[in-house]
Amino acid sequence: MCPVPPGRVAAHPDPVTAPRSHWDVVVAGAGPAGLSVAAACAARGMGVVVVAPHLRPWPQTYGMWADELDAVSATLLGGPASRTPPLGRRYPVTVVRTTAGERDIGRGYARLHNDVVHGLLLDQLRAGGGETRRGSVAAVHQDAAGQVVTLADGTTLTGRTVVDARGGGPGSAQQRAWGEQVTGDLAGLVPDGGALLMDWAALREDGVAQPPAFLYGMALDDGTTLLEATSLAARPPVALPHLRDRLHRLVADAGLRIVDRPERVAIPLDAAVRRSAGVPVGAAAGLVHPATGYSVAASLRAGGTVADALLAGADAAAVRALVRGARQRASLGLLGLGREVLLELDEAETDTFFQTFFSLPESAWVAYLDVGSAPTSIAAAMLRVARALPPAARRTLVSTAVRTVLRATPAGPVRG
Ligand SMILES: Cc1cc2nc3c(=O)[nH]c(=O)nc-3n(C[C@H](O)[C@H](O)[C@H](O)COP(=O)(O)OP(=O)(O)OC[C@H]3O[C@@H](n4cnc5c(N)ncnc54)[C@H](O)[C@@H]3O)c2cc1C
Repeated sequence: MCPVPPGRVAAHPDPVTAPRSHWDVVVAGAGPAGLSVAAACAARGMGVVVVAPHLRPWPQTYGMWADELDAVSATLLGGPASRTPPLGRRYPVTVVRTTAGERDIGRGYARLHNDVVHGLLLDQLRAGGGETRRGSVAAVHQDAAGQVVTLADGTTLTGRTVVDARGGGPGSAQQRAWGEQVTGDLAGLVPDGGALLMDWAALREDGVAQPPAFLYGMALDDGTTLLEATSLAARPPVALPHLRDRLHRLVADAGLRIVDRPERVAIPLDAAVRRSAGVPVGAAAGLVHPATGYSVAASLRAGGTVADALLAGADAAAVRALVRGARQRASLGLLGLGREVLLELDEAETDTFFQTFFSLPESAWVAYLDVGSAPTSIAAAMLRVARALPPAARRTLVSTAVRTVLRATPAGPVRG
């Protein structure tokens, strides 16, 4: 057990005779962000409870870069010498395809083994004495005893800090995807043993103007392949049946067979930060990448940082500033500007954009795709894309960026 830091709740009712209602940390939500914070707090000896409607492994297919999986593994396992099964599957080759051709972008991809990571975090939580409660958090408020979570059934749980990991709201722009598990000859679509990050040509249909959508795909552990028709970002979001129909036409044309239930994806890209008394983390803190929807690797790695701050006695305001400080907000603003530009592009323009984007040096596109990058690196990557685009595409990009900035800038005071 770690030493009790200043301000910690020291005395708890006997858990046998009375259900405990006071904690060091109450975590609302058991997604990747909530469980990683909860496990890290428990591992540091804090009294933790996680409140969630259920504790089943996350159902989504979670993709990330292979180097991010390595970093997640190092963080969660504390080093390579572990007997835990691999936290994900790695794909050494990652392909991007546009109408101009195909390129191996030279950065491995990975898919999280949700059951392993979920089980590992729950084990770490319980090994550190942490608990779980089924329930739905209705409200979080501050009172004299600490931060108080009120569940839908009226139960209250008090923590020195409440970590709000209930995910993001719906937002107005979303990434959407329709996925199917298929079997058959996938040569030419998904690289053997590799991942198809984006294919902007596969879902194009001659003479039909459609929202931009790309094909995403990778082999699954059961020998099938996941294919997803994905709208990267749209406001309003693209209807899922539209993506389903485009994917089904491609599956039929390629002679593939659908073998399991579909995966439906809707990722809010501009959801507001949850404004509760607690400390929002993960999607609740608006930390989903504004243009790509990625966040799971960052969430899984952030638990230790939050837990260290709480252990050191930081109050909710200080931890909030740590999670979403000025630098992070600046990065999110720039990435959001990039999303607004993408929202304006049609299929052909999007295809040109990604031809250019992935022709930049790896360091530039890597910086843009990481929500944790410094604002200066993101701005530099954006300038490089703008400079490398053909003149017509550059004009569209610059005029959209200017319109977006003007819309977001309040008019100054009017003088009479
Ligand atoms: C279908 C889908 C696919 C995605 N794919 C990827 C991907 O491939 N790669 C990537 O990086 N990101 C992906 N994302 C985006 C992002 O990483 C995920 O949204 C990620 O799950 C965010 O983690 P989180 O823990 O912050 O929030 P969530 O995963 O949304 O977890 C929130 C949790 O809070 C619980 N909850 C909600 N309300 C309450 C309440 N009132 N009381 C208690 N608990 C509550 C929910 O049940 C849920 O378990 C995807 C998102 C979705 C929706």
